[in-house]
This record gives sequence, structure tokens and C-alpha cells, in this order.
Amino acid sequence: MLKILTELLYPKRCPVCDDIVLPKGGLVCDSCRDILMPLHEPLCYKCGRQITSTTLEFCETCAKYDFNFDKAFSLWPYNDISRTSLARFKYKGRREFAEYYADKLYEHFESLISKLNISVLVPVPIHQNRLITRGYNQANLISDILSKRLNLPNASDYLIRIKNTEAQKDLDPVSRRKNLNNAFAINQNSKYYNIHLKNILLIDDIYTTGSTADACSKVLKDSGTEKVYVLCLASVKAN
Ligand SMILES: [Zn+2]
Ligand SMILES: [Zn+2]
Repeated sequence: MLKILTELLYPKRCPVCDDIVLPKGGLVCDSCRDILMPLHEPLCYKCGRQITSTTLEFCETCAKYDFNFDKAFSLWPYNDISRTSLARFKYKGRREFAEYYADKLYEHFESLISKLNISVLVPVPIHQNRLITRGYNQANLISDILSKRLNLPNASDYLIRIKNTEAQKDLDPVSRRKNLNNAFAINQNSKYYNIHLKNILLIDDIYTTGSTADACSKVLKDSGTEKVYVLCLASVKAN
């Protein structure tokens, strides 16, 4: 009853076209279903971004820089459609998109994740101040639903952001890394604090240069985690 009422009062928006989902009750319109398609080969073996060369194993960045995470995967190319969708999700309060995002991640990566022997999911945290203004951490919304699908805990408070860094999007890779120095820490009040978390699946919305995933992974590895895998919804094309 409550569900029907909520659906009547606040009909779900489509993550692709942003109109009310048709037919009602779905997470995406029938006509929008096949618009966002998963990334395809060739992909960088380390960061999972799309590369142009079919002969090289790594993108230019991964060939010269050794990231702290073990491997990263993303679902969609970061194109006009995914960028617009994620911007609405992040800045326009479209929290309901998380359900579609998590569904698609599950559909595409479930068998791969089951082989990674993951202990917990950890969403990339946002700073407390940002959490108050935005009302939610977009990565945690996805991580929370995905963890239930995967039957794994979502250690949402394990990693915290202790530095309210300036927006990363306007910075070059070196400045991004500097900007993130000491930005993350393990939360000593988390119930996972004294537990050995062997392998972690770090969840984020967008993979750009890898600097955020890298900074988070460093903290996680310093605290004893053996493997950190990164799962993002969309990633930019690599060189
Ligand atoms: Zn639609
Ligand atoms: Zn790469």
C-alpha cells in the first residue's frame, strides 16, 4: 500500500531520459533500456578504462604509475548520457537512480565479483560538510543496494574523508594527487575498525584519473587490507 502510494506521489524518474518511467513501476523506460551499454574491449588491464590500442595491455597512466589498488572496473563509458544521469543523481536529488545503477552493476559484474573473495564493500566517502549539504553520499547509495544483492556487508563508515578537498574536476593529475594527500582515514569508531578486512571492493560513481581510488586504496592497504578492487559506474576514455 505504502509503496503504491509513494509511487503515485513520487513516480520514479528514468536514469536515462529523466522523464517519469514508462511503463510505471520500472526503474528505466522500455525505450531507454538499451541506451547505456557496457564498456567493451580493448580495456586497460589495470584501471579498466577503454583504450584505443588492441596490442597494449595498459593505458599510458597505468604503464608508468603504480596505483595502490589492484584492479579497477567500470560499467559504462563516461559519455553525454551517463554524465547527465550521474549529475542528476549527484546534484539534483535523483536518489532513485541508485537502484538502477546497482542493478546494472550486479548484472554485469556479479560473476566476476564472486571470484574476488571480497570481505566488504566500501563506498568512497564524502566529507561530513558535503554530506550535510547534499543529504547523501551518492557512492554509498549504490554500495548499499549492491551489497544487499551480493550478500556482502556494506562497510559504509569504515573509510572517512577528513579533508574537504576542492573539486577535483578542474585539476590536472599531479594536483589531484596532492589535493588528496591525507584526505582519507580509517574511522576508529567503525565496527569494522578492528576486523581484518582481507579484500575490499571500493565503490565510486566516476573513474577519471584514478587519484581518488588510489588515495582511498593507500589508506586501506596501510591498514592491512590485502587487495583493493575498485568498481565504478562510468569511466573516461584513456590514452
Ligand atoms: Zn527513459
Ligand atoms: Zn589504465
